[in-house]
Amino acid sequence: MGSDWTGSESPGDDWDRRLEALGRSSFRRRFRLDARHQAYLQRAGLAKVLEHGRRFIRQRLAPASPPDDGRQTPWRGHPIFVAQHATATCCRKCLSEWHQMAAGSALTDAQVDGVLRLIEAWLRRQAAEPAAAGTRQKTLPFFFPDAEI
Ligand SMILES: [Zn+2]
Repeated sequence: MGSDWTGSESPGDDWDRRLEALGRSSFRRRFRLDARHQAYLQRAGLAKVLEHGRRFIRQRLAPASPPDDGRQTPWRGHPIFVAQHATATCCRKCLSEWHQMAAGSALTDAQVDGVLRLIEAWLRRQAAEPAAAGTRQKTLPFFFPDAEI
């Protein structure tokens, strides 16, 4: 964890606590990276994946009233999407319910950073675990914004 952390005195502990709380939700706990998502994370690297994450969060989550809120985050296709559902950072409703980031006003830079830190913490944990089985994903489109990676 870097020294550029914003928004909490003890960020490491704070995110650990949040991840633990999320892990007690049977819905949130279902989300795991399968082999394909793991391989992509490995190949692209965490920094690149988080860069995509920042773009997704800014475009789909940060506006005061994102279009189609609640449905703007695909279930799969990028490690960030899976992480967003696992960490309840998928839509403004979940952000409000789980992370006290009120809907109706644009996310601040610090809030965007916070969302990304939580996603990063989740991705780091997932990367340390064996990939989940993911046979159901074979027939689905697999979307990455930068196809060359
Ligand atoms: Zn949501």
